[in-house]
Amino acid sequence: GKRTFTMIKPDAFGAGNTGAIIKMIEEAGFKLVAGKITHLTKELAGKFYEVHKERPFYGELCDFMSSGPIMAIVLEKDNAVEDFRKLIGATNPAEAAEGTIRKAYAKSVGENAVHGSDSDENAAIESSFFFSKFEEI
Ligand code: ATP
Repeated sequence: GKRTFTMIKPDAFGAGNTGAIIKMIEEAGFKLVAGKITHLTKELAGKFYEVHKERPFYGELCDFMSSGPIMAIVLEKDNAVEDFRKLIGATNPAEAAEGTIRKAYAKSVGENAVHGSDSDENAAIESSFFFSKFEEI
């Protein structure tokens, strides 16, 4: 697929790393298709991460994701989902490869700077969570 979805999470947004992260994304060959800054309520964060609702960290994740503003972005590139997962690196920054966004900016397994969709299907679902058809070029 040609598109994926990302969020700059509250840790990275709050630390002022949004511009640097977008620069890494663009230098890796992704085009920005849509973007917005918003602040999720705990309820909306819970809806976005509903697939994780049985996981032990779900409450912590929803608290964190609603703790400050985020930036939601739709990205375009050939092989977008897989290439973007490579660019962000492992969920746990201690395991993230050199040159990845999480290696550079993530603080912990929970506060890990960015989200990246894990399939074409989820990229479409997650993009439509934040954007209407008219907002995606
Ligand atoms: P994302 O879906 O945000 O791109 P991911 O696919 O790398 O992340 P998942 O296992 O799907 O990781 O977990 C979703 C998110 O939940 C993680 O990015 C992280 O913010 C949080 N999370 C995962 N594991 C833990 C944990 N053990 N403790 C706290 N938070 C966690």
